[in-house]
Amino acid sequence: MENVLDILLWYKKNFRELPWRSTQDPYKIWLSEIILQQTQVVQGLSYFDKFVVKYPEIKNLASASEEEILKMWQGLGYYTRARNLHKTARIISDEYQGIFPDNYMILSKLPGIGDYTASAILSFAFGKPYPVLDGNVFRLISRLYDIHLPVNEAKNRQVFKNVLDELIVGTVPSEFNNAIMELGALVCRPENPRCKECPVSMHCLALKNGTVDMLPVKLKKNKPSIRHFNYFYIRENNHFYLVKREDKDIWKNLYQLPLIESDSQIDEKSMPQLLASSWAVGCDYSLKRQSQARHLLSHQTILATFWELHSKDVPDFVNETYKRVNLKNYTKYPVPVLIQNFLLSL
Ligand code: SF4
Repeated sequence: MENVLDILLWYKKNFRELPWRSTQDPYKIWLSEIILQQTQVVQGLSYFDKFVVKYPEIKNLASASEEEILKMWQGLGYYTRARNLHKTARIISDEYQGIFPDNYMILSKLPGIGDYTASAILSFAFGKPYPVLDGNVFRLISRLYDIHLPVNEAKNRQVFKNVLDELIVGTVPSEFNNAIMELGALVCRPENPRCKECPVSMHCLALKNGTVDMLPVKLKKNKPSIRHFNYFYIRENNHFYLVKREDKDIWKNLYQLPLIESDSQIDEKSMPQLLASSWAVGCDYSLKRQSQARHLLSHQTILATFWELHSKDVPDFVNETYKRVNLKNYTKYPVPVLIQNFLLSL
């Protein structure tokens, strides 16, 4: 198809050299794809390099602790990716002798591997004709074929897959996939697409119909919910306390300062009352509001208030779930960026 030849020719002249493009090692391809989900290439590059140096093979990743992986992942966000990365590494090491399966059904059942990642591994590592469908490709195909179906509605995925399944025939699958993703990322950009430089502008139906700015169609997401977190920096000489988040919630298995979540923002007058009804029962302390921060996640906005709490003795509420950490070596614990920024600001 003319479309495809033009895209492939353009890719040969314009591709960016990225470390995961010069390998057919399924481990490195998988690692890069997981890191790049919801992450910009520029930011993902340094994490990819760091992981490959520390864990050159999947068995190294599998034998690390989850806490170590979370620490390596710190700052990338969406920590479920890191936990799933670790689970999948262990499954492949234990059940598949460390060899990645080259089968779509098996791959797509592994933790953290969906249609996109399975297709990327199969095409880039094994040369199989599975087209990838990420945000860049959805946008490109929506515009090229003037498709007005919401791209974030699961039932429409197959429509886009069908188009790609036809286009990939007769190509080198890895080249085809890289080319469509790169064209979407560099030319058919979300804002101000570079249609004048686009190798397929002659065939682009959205350009012909004047609908480029309307595409891709996306269903509106619900407004992020707002949560009020009150964090307590409990200082005791050269130490303070961290607690592991173990509930099924954001940042699972990361560490944070002791927390009280409230329905609204709490001022200095009301905080002692809230503390008394929570875990600081009977404790003799002094309290000072330190700082506030807003932290945006995809579905939630965290409004955090940091309180400094001084107590002469070990506070009554401190129990075995609290980790007493030295001010100098707390950095070995994986913490959300919100907590890291607060600790760095001290
Ligand atoms: S012509 Fe413009 S809108 Fe159409 S595919 Fe190319 S960059 Fe995208």
